[in-house]
Amino acid sequence: MPRPTPAVKAKPTAKPKKAPSSASLEVALPPLNAPTEPQSAGPPNPDAVDQRVGFALVGLGTLTLEELLPAFGQCKHARPVALVSGDPRKMSKVARQYGIRASGCYSYETYDQLRDNPEVEVIYIVLPNSMHAEFTIRGAQAGKHILCEKPMANSVQECEDMIAACKKAGKKLMIAYRIQYEPLNRMARQLVRDKTYGRVKMIDAMNCQNQAHDKQWRHQKKLAGGGSLPDVGLYCLNTTRFLLGEEPNEVFASIYSTPGDARFKEVEENVSFMLRFPSGVIANCATGYGSFNAKRYAVYAETGTIKMDPAFTYRGLQLEKEHAPDGQQVQEKPQNPHKDQFALEIDHMAECVRQNKTPYTPGEEGLQDQRIMEAIYQSAKENKPVKLPVVKKLDAFRGTPPTEED
Ligand code: NAD
Repeated sequence: MPRPTPAVKAKPTAKPKKAPSSASLEVALPPLNAPTEPQSAGPPNPDAVDQRVGFALVGLGTLTLEELLPAFGQCKHARPVALVSGDPRKMSKVARQYGIRASGCYSYETYDQLRDNPEVEVIYIVLPNSMHAEFTIRGAQAGKHILCEKPMANSVQECEDMIAACKKAGKKLMIAYRIQYEPLNRMARQLVRDKTYGRVKMIDAMNCQNQAHDKQWRHQKKLAGGGSLPDVGLYCLNTTRFLLGEEPNEVFASIYSTPGDARFKEVEENVSFMLRFPSGVIANCATGYGSFNAKRYAVYAETGTIKMDPAFTYRGLQLEKEHAPDGQQVQEKPQNPHKDQFALEIDHMAECVRQNKTPYTPGEEGLQDQRIMEAIYQSAKENKPVKLPVVKKLDAFRGTPPTEED
């Protein structure tokens, strides 16, 4: 049977839901299937390419080439228009692959000339951690909004300087915490916040992987800031805070690195840390750089358990709910919406720019993680719990939540 002709409907102008650029027309389709059947999501209604927010990507490493540039193909509000790299040959190949003009290609030295490129509205910083602060500050001074990879920086001082520079320039700063935009993790958060299984009592979270033995920047303290903790352990910390909305008021940690392993001469291998929250929740988190990959968490509440395994990978996430509604233990696995987390995160930044909203994960969110990580290192060093200031407000450091259809 032929599909019905698409209906074109005008969007109401009084309360625009999306960017002004895309608010004029949306294509809608009448449903093909009965309401009792699984429903399709409908057409994605992307913005016209020339109306999307232009991004410059800084650093053409693994994340940019394997995930971010491909993710722009799934974006509705964003497009890549410029690249910044120290390798002109690689950059010109990548620019051709993604239709970026030669005039949109910059080196780290000519980076500040982005100021004169009106196509670039957001700079996405995907460099080693120690370079995040400098390139954020220079980018804001060049008059651009900043999306910066996690961890935000290597110290609380650097995070504060980045926030101040963006504020002074009147520009937005978002930290790329993709998990907070990912649909299954958002579903898990909703179950926690709705108290679907009563009060949460405990969380355990694990993020470890076995690192290659080469001399990568991740093993150099000056460039990485630390080892497994700021790289992968940060997911356990940030996601626990995201699920609960609370801030820990005490941490207790222990660190171990295998003696003689060259990878861990400068940075730590394993960190186990406990977070205590004002509501009484205890979270046990563990991260490592020398054991086979495990990326999961479980939330233990009064009448049910919410498990995500894997929880922190780019694809294939699985959510499982365990409870006993009729006295029989059941496991339910909600369908995975398979949305590209990077595309969701990038589109959120683009919407924040177009609609002048504070990103859901602004600089303050990254700064709070950095404060807690510094307390974790201190606790491990002193072998005793470290107190943190009590924060009463829920989601104290987050901005405008992503829209449902993001
Ligand atoms: P990578 O090593 O693959 O790429 C780093 C890029 O920075 C390379 O293009 C390299 O040439 C460039 N660079 C510039 N100066 C450098 C220097 N002095 N030393 C080394 N490289 C230099 O790293 P990556 O995996 O792409 O990570 C980049 C950032 O993205 C990091 O902050 C990392 O934590 C973050 N990251 C986030 C995720 C996520 O899921 N959100 C995943 C991976 C990485």
